Amino acid sequence: MKIICVGRNYRKHAEELGNAVPGEPVIFMKPDSAILRQRDAFYIPDFSNDVHHEAEIVVKLNRLGKRIQSKFAPKYYAEFTLGIDFTARDVQSKLKAKGLPWEKAKAFDSSAVCGNWLKTEDYDLSNLKFELHKNGELVQQGNTADMLFSVDQLIEHCSDYFTLKIGDQIFTGTPEGVGPVSSGDVLEGFVEGKKVLNVRVK
Ligand code: ZN
Repeated sequence: MKIICVGRNYRKHAEELGNAVPGEPVIFMKPDSAILRQRDAFYIPDFSNDVHHEAEIVVKLNRLGKRIQSKFAPKYYAEFTLGIDFTARDVQSKLKAKGLPWEKAKAFDSSAVCGNWLKTEDYDLSNLKFELHKNGELVQQGNTADMLFSVDQLIEHCSDYFTLKIGDQIFTGTPEGVGPVSSGDVLEGFVEGKKVLNVRVK
């Protein structure tokens, strides 16, 4: 399986990192080795001194498809959750400055965390509130209504380039409020008030 990630999909997050608001989705990927198993702790890698949390709604594909029109996209997923796209911001800033790919900053081991999966039929994915708490304090909150590109538009765009397979995950981008994590932190994620994610940082 593959993990497709979307950058700059919320206007205020693009602005907080000094990036232009994109005219088409910004896409990058993580390999399956980036997945942190649920209930495992996240260990800060030794090549970074500034790993950030990015809380994102994640959709899991349950059908194979390519060139999927957005109006048919809902047939290709039935589960979603809140995840964290851990990002080595110091590494990413150096790579960005040189115009180099982001993988070292984004695709490292354990950088992709997913919470418990929820059924899409029980929620409205186009208007979904989510929150990330760090040590009991709210650090990020978002609503999918503020996405620049909706889940279904993202599936249409991604599937123009990449065949989507069963089990693939799409990290749909983070709202503003990204920030560093430290050893000892506890991150908790909520969707519509329901806790779906708990990660200890070491
Ligand atoms: Zn992200």
